[in-house]
Amino acid sequence: MPPTVLWFRRDLRLDDNPALLAAAEQAGRAGVVALFVLDPALLGPAGPPRRAVLFRCLRALDEATGGRLVVRAGDPTDVVPRTVAEVGAGAVHCAADHGVHGRERDARVEAALAAAGVPLVRLGSPWLVAPGRVTKADGSPFRVYSPYARAWRAHGWRDPAPRAEGVTWLALAGDGVPDDPDLGTTVLPPAGEQAAREAWRAFRDVRLSAYAEGRDRPATPGTSQLSMHLKYGTLHPRTLVADLGESEGEERFRGELAWRDFYADVLWHAPHSAREPLHATVGQIRVDTGPQADARFAAWAEGRTGYPVVDAGMRQLRAEAWVHNRVRMVVASFLVKDLHLDWRRGARHFMRWLRDGELSSNQHGWQWVAGTGTDAAPYFRVFNPTLQGERFDPDGDYVRRYVPELAGVAGKRVHRPWDLPGGPPEGYPRPLVDHAEERREALARLAELD
Ligand code: FAD
Repeated sequence: MPPTVLWFRRDLRLDDNPALLAAAEQAGRAGVVALFVLDPALLGPAGPPRRAVLFRCLRALDEATGGRLVVRAGDPTDVVPRTVAEVGAGAVHCAADHGVHGRERDARVEAALAAAGVPLVRLGSPWLVAPGRVTKADGSPFRVYSPYARAWRAHGWRDPAPRAEGVTWLALAGDGVPDDPDLGTTVLPPAGEQAAREAWRAFRDVRLSAYAEGRDRPATPGTSQLSMHLKYGTLHPRTLVADLGESEGEERFRGELAWRDFYADVLWHAPHSAREPLHATVGQIRVDTGPQADARFAAWAEGRTGYPVVDAGMRQLRAEAWVHNRVRMVVASFLVKDLHLDWRRGARHFMRWLRDGELSSNQHGWQWVAGTGTDAAPYFRVFNPTLQGERFDPDGDYVRRYVPELAGVAGKRVHRPWDLPGGPPEGYPRPLVDHAEERREALARLAELD
């Protein structure tokens, strides 16, 4: 038996990894090359947090394979066949990638390998239900979440795969894992498979039972913060759902994993929606450009809009490379409907700074807010940042944590600093725009499309 190559991509774990089981079984004692290719095309849009998370996951994987992870920089179309030739491998195993870039890359690598008579064997994927698997009765893709989620549940998923034991990892020279980029003041949670399992256990055992109510309160750690681990596959969602029962919190959590699969499905059917509006008509809405728009974008990105919950969210992004889901919706709505900027500017900024930046969830999270995406959220739903703050951060703790200029303002008054005697505290700006006015402007721009 010749050796095999296990090509790791976004499945950086040894547990519950069907492709690893297949690679190890086929190779037997001939051994498996654990390969990761540092592809400049993928590293490009990732900012320092995502690069650092990736490198830390790779270091953890290297340790778990006894120092045998082979990291090579370059175009996978060259690197994978070259590695195969070096060890005379009989097959390359990997989890299927349904992403826009991944599909094209894999087709090219597959063709290059085929020339040498070596198959690219895809097994498993990062999803519970792979994109394209469930469709409406007439075979067309779902555009609405609820019917998708019903079909998704009916389809179901496999149990977690057993851990591959006694794998013989082959030693091969590589380029090594790069040093972490400069993170500035951003603090990241621990990365890697073991950290992911610990994070899941901590959430499951303590916070999951209160998830249904707790998930909308940004001041408290009510959500799992597993998105980074799911993004890099240090944990597969199969492992999570295998632990879930039927309580309200567990049901709700399963439903969030369905959103993750839903958006991957939407993107798979409509790859253009990574860059273009899914809903072409609303996508033509007039957006602002030019120096004033640029200045407003900068104020948004730096958390200087004068709307406390928006500013707290944008500063949380830079402090932790993560933002609570409720606040992601509020800051996205503010960019699109209060500042009238193109959703793609915000989506790019998120992809650069989020540690969990996931093209499908991000672009479609943005499109949902912008009203150009899946049709459950109409354009005329405009989040009021002040009311959202008062409702979901009723004590103001979330705002005070991230906006030190407001740290001395007690209770929910922190959401209306302009109403304080003497106006906002020193160093905190007055509102960049008037929300009521900009809401009218957003709706007027929508009416222009009729
Ligand atoms: P939990 O509440 O614990 O949920 C568990 C898991 O379910 C998450 O880790 C995630 O994988 C999935 N999930 C939860 N909510 C959603 C959702 N609305 N859409 C898709 N999947 C979901 N999620 C990303 O993983 N990467 C992104 O780049 C991303 N960008 C977003 C941009 C915008 C504008 C919006 C509104 C949402 C975005 N989301 C993104 C979805 C969601 O905000 C995050 O998944 C969630 O906040 C991650 O925190 P958590 O792990 O604590 O979530």
